[in-house]
Amino acid sequence: MATKRDYYEILGVTKDADATAIKSAYKKLAVKYHPDKNPGNKEAEEKFKEAAEAYGVLSDATKKAQYDRFGHAGMNQGGMGGGAQGFSNFEDIFSSFGDIFGGGGGFGGGRSRGPSGPPRGQDLQIQLTLTLKDIAHGVTKKIQLKRFGRCKTCDGAGGTGKETCGTCKGQGQVRRTQNSFFGQVVNVTACPDCGGTGQQIKVRCKDCNGQGRVQEEVTLPIEIPAGVEEGQYLTLRGEGHRGPHGGGAGDLLVVIHEARDERFERRGVDLHGKADIPFTTAALGGSIRVPTLEGDVELKIPAGTQSDTLMRLRGKGLPELHGGAHGHLYVKVHIDTPQKLGARETELLKELQALWEAPASKGGKESGSKDKSKSFFF
Ligand SMILES: [Zn+2]
Ligand SMILES: [Zn+2]
Repeated sequence: MATKRDYYEILGVTKDADATAIKSAYKKLAVKYHPDKNPGNKEAEEKFKEAAEAYGVLSDATKKAQYDRFGHAGMNQGGMGGGAQGFSNFEDIFSSFGDIFGGGGGFGGGRSRGPSGPPRGQDLQIQLTLTLKDIAHGVTKKIQLKRFGRCKTCDGAGGTGKETCGTCKGQGQVRRTQNSFFGQVVNVTACPDCGGTGQQIKVRCKDCNGQGRVQEEVTLPIEIPAGVEEGQYLTLRGEGHRGPHGGGAGDLLVVIHEARDERFERRGVDLHGKADIPFTTAALGGSIRVPTLEGDVELKIPAGTQSDTLMRLRGKGLPELHGGAHGHLYVKVHIDTPQKLGARETELLKELQALWEAPASKGGKESGSKDKSKSFFF
């Protein structure tokens, strides 16, 4: 075995960390190195798997005790640390916070099967990028998908006639004996030749070569409710790959991505934007046009508006998922100081300056001018 990193080290916890600390440490890593967030990044993928493996052991009291006593040597048996192990922990972790429709199984509930049933197909995962406008109203997107579907020629049966599987003698399981650190270990796995059914097809369907499933391309409409957020996902039961030998279908997970919007930054249900206003408008009041998700609207600027004032456009944000509150659009106004002045502009501003600097007795307007010089001197 190549040198493996310590499981506690991988998760960044101490040996006396409790189950909650271990879970939360893993959750952080799983989110950070999730393949969805790091497409094509081998290193992230490895880190993700490594964390899943560590969590698989440290979250299980028996395995943890074994690991604490024997280290990695105690783990190299019984097929530990495989992807499947990691994935089921991953499901467990993610079902608690990601699923849009909350609660219940989240990922792959119903994955389990009896010892003799044909395996369920794999889950499929797709990314769906949505604009803020899509998110504001909810949207139906049509997606194209390649997956294993039921073979129509044999209706998923794989062929006609049945006979007892020669490999497992109808048991549906095969036993393998392995030598390990602890002596001989017997592994029982589903029979690879009959997929655990204990039976094989006599006359194989030619279209699916007895698998009962074929590759298909489908177009599915996916309804996204308003108010979804980055990283949330929908689970479409039974829309994943169909399992071989008449096994059920996996699920389709639709992971939400938010497209970047140049104009707004999302903060929960609120949107934040910026607008420049001429300093004359700031002083005298007026109105400017600002973008919203529904097009430009007029924003009133009160006289005497200061730079960095946050103006609120009520209800122009995003809805909460599943109704309820509606966010607002906040526009931070920035006072635009002119950088190039024409002769006439300079003349007018100098006149204004002279007026502000003149003593009040000589008819200078008292309002803004005095305050300004005060704040300058004190
Ligand atoms: Zn077929
Ligand atoms: Zn078999």
